[in-house]
Amino acid sequence: MGNKKIHIITFGCQMNVHDTERMRMIMKQEGYDWSESPDDADLILLNTCSVREGPENKVHSQLGRLKPLKEKNKELLFGVTGCVAQQKGKELLKQISYLDLVVGTDAIASLPNVVKKVKETGKPVVQTEFQDNSEYEFVELDINYNFSKFSDFVTIMKGCNKRCSYCIVPYVRGREVSRPVEDILKEIEMMAQKGVKEITLLGQTVNSYRYQGIDFASLLYKINDINGIERVRFTSPHPKYFTEPVMDAIAELDKVMEHIHYPLQSGSNEVLKHMRRQYSAELYLSQIAYMKKKMPQLEITTDIIVGYPTETDADFEETLKIMKEVEFDNSFSFLYSPRPMTAIYDLDDPIPEEEKKERLHKLKELQEEISISRTSKLIGSIQEVLIEDEGDGRNKNQFSGRSRGNRKVFIDDIGEYKLGDIVKVKVISGSVHALKGEII
Ligand code: SF4
Repeated sequence: MGNKKIHIITFGCQMNVHDTERMRMIMKQEGYDWSESPDDADLILLNTCSVREGPENKVHSQLGRLKPLKEKNKELLFGVTGCVAQQKGKELLKQISYLDLVVGTDAIASLPNVVKKVKETGKPVVQTEFQDNSEYEFVELDINYNFSKFSDFVTIMKGCNKRCSYCIVPYVRGREVSRPVEDILKEIEMMAQKGVKEITLLGQTVNSYRYQGIDFASLLYKINDINGIERVRFTSPHPKYFTEPVMDAIAELDKVMEHIHYPLQSGSNEVLKHMRRQYSAELYLSQIAYMKKKMPQLEITTDIIVGYPTETDADFEETLKIMKEVEFDNSFSFLYSPRPMTAIYDLDDPIPEEEKKERLHKLKELQEEISISRTSKLIGSIQEVLIEDEGDGRNKNQFSGRSRGNRKVFIDDIGEYKLGDIVKVKVISGSVHALKGEII
């Protein structure tokens, strides 16, 4: 009989994608191989997101779809991990009678023990306690884990100390803890040995990192010195901690890419204040102006919430105004979704749904116009691309990778080059967000 198999379905952000990878690694140490399909798995986990209502609801529908597998195979275990697990805990067991385990955001390392306990007792297990921050232990990388990627994530901190009025994250991810700098550097060095060329540093407010006097800017300098790592990205920075030393480090360090994902949320000071975002539109714009002056080629993407309960037409117009001024390369915009536990969960929401949808549509149209214009300016330019994939576009023989500005770039012919190489590409055409180029 072969190894047992695990299949994990991931919802939400890059933090969750990274947690999934860590769970795969931990369960591999326990003898669980990865299964591409839930049909062959002995353990199926849903790694969940509760930032908006939509993804949260998907947990129930997804488990409902998988239920027949459990009816066919009584040994199969179902688990929910991530933010919904943390948020709902035991309640999930009441809602989903065939669930075997619920593991919260701080309890990833205990997953093997939880699985063992379920098997031994035949009863469901819930593990959702937060770790004590003073003794917090991050899940460390196993050098023997088989990485096949050239680009990977590195957690540099967990949790969030902000209390943005609409956001559930601090309640499901806990207080902020910065990871020891030596552990971060060791992990990146191990990744470099394994052939990883690009890393993305992860944290809810990644630039508020501080560990024993080392701040985010100093950390970037240390990472920039690691041999083998060619590219450094990070997500997501918060304007409150976007100090001049941080911006200077980004501009000066050759391995830090010319792209920032910089959440704006709203262009209106009234709304930002109500959201408790702790910055003004003016501060945000002055930081963008500072960075663009130092890095004219900088590409900027953002997150925007549309239809926040206090957002007036005039507030919304302020957001559109900033979008035009900054010329974001792309934006991820969502309708406001009330989340339990947050400060404004019970706040009256007077904006009619139709009105919200109209605003979102208008914003998306504007973004598309700006994105097309930004893309057209890149045609004819030379871009440095890390070749990462083969055959993920319409053409199965096509290769693709990312530019320094984080644009997807398709290449038909890579000649003598191979996956993992960094090449210079002349851009010959572009769609809204992707580019097509030829190696020069
Ligand atoms: S900074 Fe605000 S929006 Fe971001 S995770 Fe923290 S509370 Fe949520």
